[in-house]
Amino acid sequence: MAKTFNFAQALLDWYDQHGRKDLPWQQKPTPYHVWLSEIMLQQTQVSTVIDYYQRFIRHFPDIETLAAAKQDAVLAQWSGLGYYARARNLHKTAHLVVNEFNGHMPASLETLMELPGIGRSTAGAILTLAYHQRFPILDGNVKRVLARFFAVEGWPGIKQVENRLWQYAEELLPEQRIANYIQAQMDLGATLCTRSKPDCQRCPMQTHCQAYALGQPGAYPGKKPKKNIPTRQTHWLVMQNEVGEVLLEQRPQQGIWGGLWSFPEMRDGEVARQYCQQRWQLQIHSQRALSPLQHVFTHFRLEIYPTLLQCSVNGVADKDYGNWYRIKDTFELGLPAPVKSFLKSLN
Ligand code: SF4
Repeated sequence: MAKTFNFAQALLDWYDQHGRKDLPWQQKPTPYHVWLSEIMLQQTQVSTVIDYYQRFIRHFPDIETLAAAKQDAVLAQWSGLGYYARARNLHKTAHLVVNEFNGHMPASLETLMELPGIGRSTAGAILTLAYHQRFPILDGNVKRVLARFFAVEGWPGIKQVENRLWQYAEELLPEQRIANYIQAQMDLGATLCTRSKPDCQRCPMQTHCQAYALGQPGAYPGKKPKKNIPTRQTHWLVMQNEVGEVLLEQRPQQGIWGGLWSFPEMRDGEVARQYCQQRWQLQIHSQRALSPLQHVFTHFRLEIYPTLLQCSVNGVADKDYGNWYRIKDTFELGLPAPVKSFLKSLN
């Protein structure tokens, strides 16, 4: 039976031979490094994260530097990684840790979980990988491995299913080598027990894995119930002045792309010219519709219709609303991925 199998030992033996030991955040697993990597790895593949992580660490080598930075500078380094609430929470937490904990990441589960953006699994990873305490984690990789090993039915987004997986994660924890074990769980999920093509033939769990025995590893974990996501439309006003600068404005902190810089938007592109003249006192020389773009969020699809407006600046744009930027300077700002790629093509 699965429960009598020494899961932890089999996993550690496999890890010794096949685990990943050269990821950048493993070289010096301080609480700051572990925390940053865990936040970046949420919903994002290791291969994507590596470059972002290295660049971020070059800009913000420690928590004090991160806390002292402007939010814009932090978002700029996150630009393209998506789920920007992660970056805003990272910045807020850095402030709290510097101001309330003397720059030391707390070493208690409850205190960590009170910090913005840190849930039970991230807290567990910090405590095990950086502080060598004994806690389970349950990130996407671990959920998948455990759901398959125990053939747990149902989508892990359902509380009952998630609780069962937490229970297994706790029961399986070894007494020794906890950091290696936690890393091994993540590695197994990322390299063998992958979402679409689990490599069961090379897996150390195969002899006791219930999903394998049932002949359907792909059926676990249960899928999120599908629902059709709605489509929304917006028009970007891409205003470009005589010297080639574009007007960008910072989005409100709440809502999509919170705190990032983007083009002014409106619902109806037909009246773009009049709107720009009235709001920014611009003289519009020409107006041209550019090819539409599409961006998919988890809960809706956004169709974007950019309109290029060549203009001359009579009054200067109100600083409260936006700023003119040379296109090459915009890449220093926090930009949503579609804005960034659009500006690159405009450049
Ligand atoms: S045997 Fe297959 S399904 Fe089971 S844990 Fe290993 S890779 Fe995953």
